[in-house]
Amino acid sequence: MQTTIPRTRIQGLNSLRIRNGSYVMYWMQQSQRLEYNHALEFAIHKANKLGQKLLVVFGLSAHYPEANLRHYTFMLQGLKETQSALSDRGIKMVIQRGCPSVIALILGADASLIVCDRGYLKHQKAWRNEVSLKAHCAVVQVESDVIVPVEIVSDKAEYAARTIRSKIKKNMDSSLVRFRHGRLKKDSLNLNVNSLDLTDIDLLLKDLNIDRSVPAVSPFLKGGTTSAKKSLKKFIRNGLPRYGRNRNQPQTDDTSQMSLYLHFGQISPLHIALQIKNADDQLQKEKETFLEELIVRRELSINFVHYNQAYDSFDCLPDWAKKTLAEHRADKREPIYTREQLENAKTHDDYWNASMKEMKYTGFMHGYMRMYWGKKILEWSDSPENAFRTALAINNKYFIDGRDPNSYAGVAWLFGLHDRAWNERPIFGKIRYMSASGLERKCDIHAYLEKVEKRIRFFQKNRTI
Ligand SMILES: Cc1cc2nc3c(=O)[nH]c(=O)nc-3n(C[C@H](O)[C@H](O)[C@H](O)COP(=O)(O)OP(=O)(O)OC[C@H]3O[C@@H](n4cnc5c(N)ncnc54)[C@H](O)[C@@H]3O)c2cc1C
Repeated sequence: MQTTIPRTRIQGLNSLRIRNGSYVMYWMQQSQRLEYNHALEFAIHKANKLGQKLLVVFGLSAHYPEANLRHYTFMLQGLKETQSALSDRGIKMVIQRGCPSVIALILGADASLIVCDRGYLKHQKAWRNEVSLKAHCAVVQVESDVIVPVEIVSDKAEYAARTIRSKIKKNMDSSLVRFRHGRLKKDSLNLNVNSLDLTDIDLLLKDLNIDRSVPAVSPFLKGGTTSAKKSLKKFIRNGLPRYGRNRNQPQTDDTSQMSLYLHFGQISPLHIALQIKNADDQLQKEKETFLEELIVRRELSINFVHYNQAYDSFDCLPDWAKKTLAEHRADKREPIYTREQLENAKTHDDYWNASMKEMKYTGFMHGYMRMYWGKKILEWSDSPENAFRTALAINNKYFIDGRDPNSYAGVAWLFGLHDRAWNERPIFGKIRYMSASGLERKCDIHAYLEKVEKRIRFFQKNRTI
């Protein structure tokens, strides 16, 4: 059990000192939770040491890149729970409307110290950079959403899972440690700072000037730490024993769905990994397979967006992939579908249409179908560059877990990132190909079609927002 936060998770973002302000401020953006939150624990520790109160602040921007009603609903459900859980611990959390960095600077003007969590996408880095440059006190960033901090693992973009695996594993045992949740000595609930009222989320959503083009998936999938922990428990009981066998079987529901909650920081990867480690000893192989996905694959994606500035464009691809796709640029494509046809699931391929509908209506798609879905966009687009743009845009529009480092790495993987060269063929060149007959051979694709139809009927009947 760890009582202090490892130094490797802590980074001073400016050279200013802690000053004598009214409170310590934790600017929460990525790690939207109370439990296993290293940034929060660090802030509690500092507030206690300074004999000050702790204010937790969240900036709610109506123009968050590519976010729509589906994403906002899921996130606000989680924030409501976190605000209430913090309040039970005597910690005031305020949510204010505006650009996150601006809100952090306004409320940080009275702070002795600003603590923030860490995000790896360009806009997340830019916000933290702005706060560190303009704040009048020390700004400290504490990593809480990976098992092994990115710079400890590697100082460059890694080539593939096989090159990053041993670097992560070398540091894994020392990172997979429980830590004790601290208590704030000075209750901060009476701090006089305004907050948006999250009692009625539907009402708040109506008042926000956000993109409403994609409906929420409530009540079937609900955001928040409680839902995350419930899903994890269910997965450990039912899915984990079959994970090795079924993780590539889209007709089953034997994966964890943790990506939804990890994306919003509603659950910590450390919490998940420790729960998995403590699961039934008989499931050693399944546990290892799951931890490979949760830690090695997920942190490879984070390594990618951290070190590859072009992560959201075709330019991010390795040279061999760009070369082989260029060599096949003139290959005949038949059929070619527009983005509208794709989004409306109007292709000749029933399997593909089902996966598009799963994504569109439920906000989620089984991992194996994500691969098939994306490979076909490459096959049916007029150029690989347009295919990349279309796949990424649709991915981020409909998936609850979209706009994540995994989204960028997942889409780039379709075009060769973190993969190797395969046998050459039209359009794809040496990029890995997937076929409908492969689906028929490897899984019960007809059971998948039935599963999706049933789920969509349920969603349409029960949708509230
Ligand atoms: C084209 C494409 C698009 C993708 N888009 C997204 C996306 O928008 N958001 C997203 O979170 N993931 C994305 N992925 C990665 C992966 O498919 C999902 O993370 C996974 O299917 C989520 O389901 P789960 O939580 O039930 O996974 P589980 O199988 O239960 O795995 C547990 C956790 O491991 C991690 N993980 C699993 N598979 C991968 C992988 N291939 N790469 C990196 N991490 C992984 C995730 O954090 C996941 O929650 C994409 C993959 C592809 C091929």
